[in-house]
Amino acid sequence: MVLSRRSFLLRSGATAAGLIGCQSWRERLHAKAISGGKIGASIDSISIPLRDWSGFTVFGESAVVLAPRTEAEVVEIVRQCRQHNRQCRVVGRRTSWNTKWYGDGDTLMLSTVHLDALSFDQEAGTVTCGPGVLLETIHREAWARGFTLSNAPAPPWVSIGGAVSTGSHGSLMGGSLSSRLTSCRLVTGQGRVVEMNADHPHLDAARISLGMLGVMTQLTLKLDPAFRLKLVQQPIATDQWRQALLDSGPMSFIHASTTDPTSTLFKVVPEASVPPLSDEVLTGEDAQGQFWMTGPAHLVVMNFQPPSPTIAGSEWAVPVDLFANVMDAFQSLDLSLPSMVWLKKVMGESALLASGNDPSKVYVECGAYYDVEGRQSPRKIVEMVRKIETLMLAYGGRPHLSKLISMTPAEMQLVYPALTTFQQVRRQLDPQNIFYTQRLAKLFG
Ligand SMILES: Cc1cc2nc3c(=O)[nH]c(=O)nc-3n(C[C@H](O)[C@H](O)[C@H](O)COP(=O)(O)OP(=O)(O)OC[C@H]3O[C@@H](n4cnc5c(N)ncnc54)[C@H](O)[C@@H]3O)c2cc1C
Repeated sequence: MVLSRRSFLLRSGATAAGLIGCQSWRERLHAKAISGGKIGASIDSISIPLRDWSGFTVFGESAVVLAPRTEAEVVEIVRQCRQHNRQCRVVGRRTSWNTKWYGDGDTLMLSTVHLDALSFDQEAGTVTCGPGVLLETIHREAWARGFTLSNAPAPPWVSIGGAVSTGSHGSLMGGSLSSRLTSCRLVTGQGRVVEMNADHPHLDAARISLGMLGVMTQLTLKLDPAFRLKLVQQPIATDQWRQALLDSGPMSFIHASTTDPTSTLFKVVPEASVPPLSDEVLTGEDAQGQFWMTGPAHLVVMNFQPPSPTIAGSEWAVPVDLFANVMDAFQSLDLSLPSMVWLKKVMGESALLASGNDPSKVYVECGAYYDVEGRQSPRKIVEMVRKIETLMLAYGGRPHLSKLISMTPAEMQLVYPALTTFQQVRRQLDPQNIFYTQRLAKLFG
């Protein structure tokens, strides 16, 4: 479907953008520090800033939140929440811009920072860990044992629990990190521990759940044999995006210009090397003056350090065959876009809330960001999100569940038909809505 400029403007509208801004102001007014109170008096606590990583949303200064060290302590917290009729949210490193880790009013927050056990099964090629382990720890320890966690997103300073639960991903002809999950342990809203292995009927709901089904207390993920990569940064014609993204290397990605005929390809190819693999990272320029880098896969493409000032924005997954329409619209419509958007790729997978649900299809993950520049909810970001969202909806695009989303439950239902099944599972595992806050209901219905 091609949207005319007029129908596009009618469907996006400034009204929606204004509403998002008002909503986050209301949230800030109601914000207050959250501690366990009577709950979990014997459990450790930590202080966390009450804002997302970028500063796009600020709920208040800081809060003291419970930081259990064992699964048994998580169970105790959830059972006491049930008893005292309080809701509960689990929080990792707060990098998800949509801040669904935050709860309204009296909601108790539980940090995974101390749930940091880590072990490897060399024979099975798997890692088993607590949800609070950072990706950089897994990458480092996996490499030392001859493995790579290939599907990880770019930032290594996020928790594995948060990265899996948001469907975070790299740029790979494979699924998101959640597709690597072979089993997990989940503390449900009834305060029970459910162990889900590969054929458990609810594993595909639990893979990407934003903590709506409960608290994941242990995850087991499949690893690949370790490999090194070579990245070369080179100019491409913007209209060659498809070939460059899909055919130029297994993990290639693009900074696509929204105004210019030239874009930048980060061409990523395996580096021919024999074990034992060196962990050295080398950089240089080739004869054409193009920047290159070689090193262990996680240090080349999964080692993104945050820029300063910080950024905020959104990302959408669109089937690759429909994405040419999106690229055309970028050039012809006023979408308040930055001059450059990120293009990555993923394959469809079985998680109910995955970016792509057809495992035989490739989806383009398109991200657009602006600097927050110290201001909360900058208008240009809010407007951009709504405008691109309207465009993406026209092509069945699905929003990344850690990024900014302003869609209605009806729109979410439209692009995530499996949301109905997900909600059935959620009601089964959390009949009292211990984890399902109003903030979540505003998005998921
Ligand atoms: C600069 C930057 C770059 C990024 N690059 C990428 C990228 O390349 N690719 C990509 O896909 N994403 C990317 N992201 C998104 C990022 O991967 C996610 O925001 C991150 O993985 C979430 O981890 P977290 O520890 O911050 O979790 P949080 O933001 O704290 O939590 C995220 C969600 O997971 C839930 N959750 C956390 N732990 C558990 C648990 N144990 N059980 C159940 N639910 C849980 C929380 O309730 C919350 O809803 C980027 C983000 C930033 C800030």
